[in-house]
Amino acid sequence: MDLRVRGKKVLVLAASKGLGKACATAYAEEGAHVFIASRNAEQLRQTAKEIFSVTHNPNIETVVCDVTNGKDIEKMVQEIGCIDIVINNTGGPPAGKFADFDDTDWQQAFESLLMSVVRTVRAVTPHMKEQQFGRIVTITSSSMKQALDGLLLSNTFRPAIVGLSKSLSQELAGDNILINSVGPGTMDTDRIRAVYDQEEEDSVKKIGEMIPIGRIGRPAEFAKAVLFLGSAANTYITGQTLVVDGGAMKSL
Ligand code: NAP
Repeated sequence: MDLRVRGKKVLVLAASKGLGKACATAYAEEGAHVFIASRNAEQLRQTAKEIFSVTHNPNIETVVCDVTNGKDIEKMVQEIGCIDIVINNTGGPPAGKFADFDDTDWQQAFESLLMSVVRTVRAVTPHMKEQQFGRIVTITSSSMKQALDGLLLSNTFRPAIVGLSKSLSQELAGDNILINSVGPGTMDTDRIRAVYDQEEEDSVKKIGEMIPIGRIGRPAEFAKAVLFLGSAANTYITGQTLVVDGGAMKSL
């Protein structure tokens, strides 16, 4: 299938590592003009080199942007200009229960998980409306559908993104701007290794054995779903939530 992303300008947020990097690599493989954003310039340069070395796509550019900072987002979008496809992403919130968090923690999670999406959509949609084309995919978590133990901030703000995206899908569909959310189950990234490896040496393997497919997911497997939903080949799916979890979630 031709995904028709060749030459399209694709902005992937929080893309120097993990799932964001995998999504950027998937778009680069398809010949898109990819912009990867995160907070550390040196890490971004290194990631851009790695993506080039596997895709041979020379159109990989880096942008320093803290997605919790609205001014950074505005400046980045202005500098890139005319973005066709956006993949929203951010660092994961800390784990914990209700008593563990104060107002600062709540505010930070709100800025990072929800307001980053609000501000990015606000910045990119005027141009998308003009050109009557846009695809927006937000990387969330399976907590958008089913609460996860000990991840109260995620359980609160991921479903809020689903509500936001559903409303936006209604408003933007007439301008051929389609917006969807993709939630990872357990994918093999630095974040997951940091959480589980602390607990026990072979805990990642044990977690994998509890998943129907028998292992945790690879970031590249997750990226395939994002790539299709955020492509010109997707012409009729909007306002949807897709979980990529190897069958882990049992709810319908
Ligand atoms: P990761 O491997 O830790 O990578 C996180 C990326 O986000 C890095 O590139 C980091 O770069 C960037 N980042 C963090 N905070 C940022 C900020 N404020 N502004 C811009 N960039 C920022 O994480 P991951 O596993 O890919 O997870 C990505 C998202 O998916 C997270 O929200 C996570 O909660 C969610 N998720 C992941 C899984 C999973 O199994 N991996 C499961 C459920 C949900 P810098 O630090 O240099 O900025």
